[in-house]
Amino acid sequence: MKFVEEYRDPELGKKLLERIHKHSRKPARLMEFCGGHTVAIFKHGLRQLLPANIEMLSGPGCPVCVTASADLDKAIALGHSPDVIITSFGDMVRVPGSRSSLQKAKAEGADVRIVYSAQDALAIARDNPGKSVIFIGIGFETTAPTIAASILQAEQEKLKNYYVLSLHKVCPPIMKAILDLGEVKLGGIICPGHVSVIIGSRPYQFIADDYKIACAVSGFEPLDILLAVDRLVEQIESGQPRVEIAYRRGVKAEGNIPALRLMESVFEIGDANWRGIGVVPASGLQLKDKYEKYDAEKNFKIDPGPTIEPKGCICGSILRGVSTPKDCGLFEGTCTPEHPVGPCMVSSEGSCATYYHYGGERGV
Ligand code: SF4
Repeated sequence: MKFVEEYRDPELGKKLLERIHKHSRKPARLMEFCGGHTVAIFKHGLRQLLPANIEMLSGPGCPVCVTASADLDKAIALGHSPDVIITSFGDMVRVPGSRSSLQKAKAEGADVRIVYSAQDALAIARDNPGKSVIFIGIGFETTAPTIAASILQAEQEKLKNYYVLSLHKVCPPIMKAILDLGEVKLGGIICPGHVSVIIGSRPYQFIADDYKIACAVSGFEPLDILLAVDRLVEQIESGQPRVEIAYRRGVKAEGNIPALRLMESVFEIGDANWRGIGVVPASGLQLKDKYEKYDAEKNFKIDPGPTIEPKGCICGSILRGVSTPKDCGLFEGTCTPEHPVGPCMVSSEGSCATYYHYGGERGV
């Protein structure tokens, strides 16, 4: 398949691996920020192929996993409001909240529908003028522009029954928050590919400048990831951390300016609640006052009740890179993809689901 096979070429992969093995001497702990990278690394067995002095850690880049229980409880409470249709991406529906899940709410009579985009939610709003249609907006800078576009379209069509519960998050502030926690010492970060298509590589510069940590933006094919590791190894060995783009076909230093403008026209930066980390200032996106008539938080009375975290679940410390799924006493026993206890086992990009499907430490 064009644009896929050439990034899975075994001969090129061997050459990159030889280069990594030849140059990598210092112990290096590398965090892949994005859950999509974790899946690709495990699926292609890359951990086993890297030198023993390189340790890979998974980070918080799974939108479903980082959604705090308190925010999920808000979505579930909204689902029980009269004449409301909740629209959500599929994985979110199965995540257990404090007392229920969107799936259970649906079984109890709530109108919860899985959609593949905000455009699907808009179509449901058009078809159901007597109902309030609320889209549960999760994700990072990758998805936020499309949600912004849906709000502008609702405005253009004068739709009065479309709302967004904005739980969107932005990446650079959470990277800073994790580094400031100081719980994990990192030599390099594989920066998220899809997010960087939108924001570019410049927002990561503080990581190299202030924290002296190597950065490489990577795509999601095995050669992309090996190239990113190769670039990180070179920076670590030379003692010259910087931000490199190892995903030139998708990412420019300045990002996607029209998408950024679109996002910034509808959203403004606000605080966000992250699972396992808590409220991080200026790490989320909220609707500007101009668009408050589409803001579910401002237009519905939400009483989600007190938050109860899933007992025994360590998703929070996994998302901070402090633990791995194997450290969780519930992994593979009580908690499986069929009966998930926490979001990291639900999401297709969650670390626990990835370990479950593709193996444990170093991918074996
Ligand atoms: Fe939570 Fe299940 Fe992962 Fe344990 S295995 S951290 S309970 S999602």
